[in-house]
Amino acid sequence: MSQQYDAILFDAGGVFLIPDPTVLAPTLAYYGATSDQDVYVRAHYGAMAAKSRQGSGEDDWSHYNTAYVQLVGVPEHNREAATFVLSRTRHAHLWRAPLAGSAETLRGLNAAEVPIGIVSNASGQIEEILGRSGICQVGDGPLASVRCIVDSHVVGVAKPDPHIFDFALPFFADIDRSRIAYVGDSVVMDVGGATAAGLIPILVDPYDDAADLVTCRRIASLLELL
Ligand SMILES: [Mg+2]
Repeated sequence: MSQQYDAILFDAGGVFLIPDPTVLAPTLAYYGATSDQDVYVRAHYGAMAAKSRQGSGEDDWSHYNTAYVQLVGVPEHNREAATFVLSRTRHAHLWRAPLAGSAETLRGLNAAEVPIGIVSNASGQIEEILGRSGICQVGDGPLASVRCIVDSHVVGVAKPDPHIFDFALPFFADIDRSRIAYVGDSVVMDVGGATAAGLIPILVDPYDDAADLVTCRRIASLLELL
């Protein structure tokens, strides 16, 4: 644990969970994409960087979808059709496939007694899915324990609006916000929102897609936080 942080808040999508390749791979293989599910993990981060390069927030995933179908290998003549189908298929409840190291990292932070919580742009489903996918729950239970899970749909504020963090910070009232890190995978929504809130942004950027987009700390794996 770095001396730099006394607590860590996390985004959920692209940090612990990605759009489920077991659904998307067969869906996009119809258009000529690879069926190699590892490529879909890689595509998520490339697509997030493409979205951030356009400055897009939560209301526009078109650049993500366009980049994603290209990165999973859909040939050019099928990309428009595949992008349309992806835009209809990749709904909130498909952000459920756990990324390697997710539960292990949170359990490690629990063991080190580092206070942690979740702040997610979501659709009212994220607490349920974090539980079902084996990532964490609020308070005591079988999974890693977090102090709070803030879902933008539930609280009515979404990143990059820094006020979404006002729903989490009361659970960390014992810690100055300048000592709280926020870990996310979006330059615009997560680094932007956390910076505006006075937190310490950390970008999950396993393939160095955003090296030229941010000056904050970038990590390739959540395990680097341990
Ligand atoms: Mg995310």
